[in-house]
Order: sequence, then structure tokens, then C-alpha cells
Amino acid sequence: MTVFWVDNMNIVILGPQGSGKGTQAAFLAKKFNLTHIETGKLLRKIAESDHPLSQQVRAIMKEGSLVSDEILQVILEQTIKNSEGSLGFVFDGTPRDVKQYDLIKSILESQGGKIDKLILLNISEEVSLKRLTSRRTCEVCGNVYNLITSPSPNGDNCECGGKLVQREDDTPESIKKRLATYHERTQAVLKKAAEDGILVEIDGERAPDLIFSDIVKEVENIYG
Ligand code: AMP
Repeated sequence: MTVFWVDNMNIVILGPQGSGKGTQAAFLAKKFNLTHIETGKLLRKIAESDHPLSQQVRAIMKEGSLVSDEILQVILEQTIKNSEGSLGFVFDGTPRDVKQYDLIKSILESQGGKIDKLILLNISEEVSLKRLTSRRTCEVCGNVYNLITSPSPNGDNCECGGKLVQREDDTPESIKKRLATYHERTQAVLKKAAEDGILVEIDGERAPDLIFSDIVKEVENIYG
């Protein structure tokens, strides 16, 4: 494995689709100067580019299935390698299962790092479905809004002026499939994280600032 640099704080944010993990991960990255690794966004970029894997990735994403561990490994290693100078990472969208959990651990461990906390944002399936069907994404900058909880001040457009669209995979069928996959595979990840002493569970159905202040308390505990 290539040698690259990882510093001292690495956090995983986990939760079902629509739990707000993207929002919380972005807050966390900004506050603690960490690199936000959002695998769904990275994969969407590949799907929309002329990358050799774009057609394959796009088809997998459209049906709501998961890309292979090999593809994920390449993306994670490249992103970490390109983030020299970062004070650590926030993983958002991975791990989806125990193999991915072990992959993240081994990439970090090979650089003398570790996962410091795995933060689970708990929300019910009903809330998840409701939030996802009202999610809108800017087709220019990728900013995410929610028609109910965080609408754009520019109506159907993003603050950057780009058009807001519904994600291709935010159809009810795809959402149900993704949620079923999430619940089926996440239990084992949570069990491992609990055994590793890094699991933190947070109620994700509250206001984003309340959730964030709980997360900050947990993260500050890492420093003792
Ligand atoms: P998300 O934005 O996290 O809902 O991810 C959107 C889609 O990207 C998923 O339905 C998968 O097709 C793909 N994807 C994102 N993260 C991963 C991952 N860690 N492993 C495999 N596929 C992923």
C-alpha cells in the first residue's frame, strides 16, 4: 500500500439515509479542520465524469446497490493520499458493512492512525423516508437542501444559482432498498464498534444544532 500521511483524529458518522450525517459531517470537518470524505458524493462525481468506471458506477447507484469494495478502496486511498496537511478525516457514507469497517481501520492503521469514534445518528424509518423524498441537490455545486426542514432561500434554485433537482436514486423504490440494505448490514458494524469501544449513539431526530453540540462533546472527549 502507498505511504501517505494521516494525523490524529478520525471520525465515522453513521446513520440511515436522511439521518443528517452529511450535514453533521460537514459541520465537524469545518470545526476541527478535518477532511470530509463523503463516498456517495465522490461516487456521483465519478458517475457524471468520463472516468473509465463511470457507466458501471452510475448503473449501480441508480438501482440503489453498493459499489464493490475494490472501487471503494481506490477512492478512499486516493482521497486520503490527496489530503496531506489535513488534521484527520470524517467518513460519511462508509462503512456500509463490516468489510468496509475493517478496510477503513486497516487504511488508517497502516499510517499509525485509527477510528477514534463511530457516531451513530438514530432516526426511525418513517422519518428517513420522509426526509429523503423531500431532499433536493444542486446540480452545479452539490449543495443539499430539504423542502421541509431546510429549503433554499432561492426557491427552486441553489444559493449559487444552480438548479435544484431530486437525486436519481431518491425514488421510493430505491430508498426502500437502500434502507433495507442499511439495516441488514449495519448491525454487525455497530457490534464491532461497540467491542472496539468507539460507538456513540445520538438521537438524530432533533434540530441539527442540538445534535451537533452532542457530537462536539463526544469529539472533545477524544482529547481528554
Ligand atoms: P449515499 O449518498 O451515501 O446515499 O450513496 C449513494 C450511492 O452511492 C449508494 O446507494 C451506493 O450505490 C453508492 N455508495 C456510497 N457509498 C458507498 C460505499 N461506502 N460502498 C458502496 N457503495 C457506496
